[in-house]
Amino acid sequence: MSAAPSGLAAFDLTGRTALVTGSSRGIGRTLAEGLTRAGARVAVHGRDARAAVDAAEQIARSTGADCTGVAFDVTDPDAVDDGIRSIEEQLGTPDILVNNAGIQRRAPIAEFSDEDWNALVQTNLSSVFHLSRRVAAGMIARGSGKIIQIGSVQSQLARPSIAAYAATKGAVAMFTKGLCADLAPHGIQANAIAPGYFATELTRPLVEDEEFSAWVRGRTPAGRWGDTVDLVGALVFLSSAASDFVNGQTLYVDGGMTAVV
Ligand code: NDP
Repeated sequence: MSAAPSGLAAFDLTGRTALVTGSSRGIGRTLAEGLTRAGARVAVHGRDARAAVDAAEQIARSTGADCTGVAFDVTDPDAVDDGIRSIEEQLGTPDILVNNAGIQRRAPIAEFSDEDWNALVQTNLSSVFHLSRRVAAGMIARGSGKIIQIGSVQSQLARPSIAAYAATKGAVAMFTKGLCADLAPHGIQANAIAPGYFATELTRPLVEDEEFSAWVRGRTPAGRWGDTVDLVGALVFLSSAASDFVNGQTLYVDGGMTAVV
């Protein structure tokens, strides 16, 4: 058995290839940059090719890292397959997959449309299955790998009008435990990060609602909204050898929100 790296060396991602889905903006964008700063080569991704390439170029300029922009729709299994193949050709087989791409749809349950339900399930849940299955084969062949989902505090805390979103995030947390059961024997770890409230495009209506925004600050023991950089340490940890004995877990990065009533 080879000796595991210790100290800060355990967090070093030099030589690793990562894909962060939905990293053209928002949380994913900050996470992609965080992984490059830890040494990884990163595929920056979104549906909009121009936005993904621009974000990859900006990250490469500011960090000097090897980045590439890739575009595909995570709800389309064939597009996922083509997209991963293109990353394999450009950067190598992914060692780290961050399933971050996601959407939100809000409406009271009696008014919730089939279209919104299906969009949420396909984008937030089925995509996690398709991407994880696609990268698992290469990770199994290598005998190592890290799969990290971006879940949500809403997998544990319900609120009006987001039952469908909460259901997808709850399912992602359980899917992560299932991945652990299947993949741990192959030296692969699957974990999730559950963010609290972060100001991004996805939460813009909530940020602009002063009453709700104040509620978030009051309900969060840290007394503020999250800053996307608050998530980077957790991701680097779960992407690195430092977490090799952590598997199937959800790490809440929420300023204490889920710890208190
Ligand atoms: P944003 O809306 O800012 O970014 C979403 C990203 O996902 C974009 O890059 C978007 O690219 C991409 N994306 C969406 N749908 C697809 C698709 N079908 N195929 C490919 N890419 C897609 O969201 P956030 O950064 O806020 O959220 C990121 C993740 O964090 C989500 O999973 C969300 O549920 C989760 N989260 C967010 C919280 C918050 O407070 N913001 C709290 C808890 C969890 P494009 O526009 O090109 O499609």
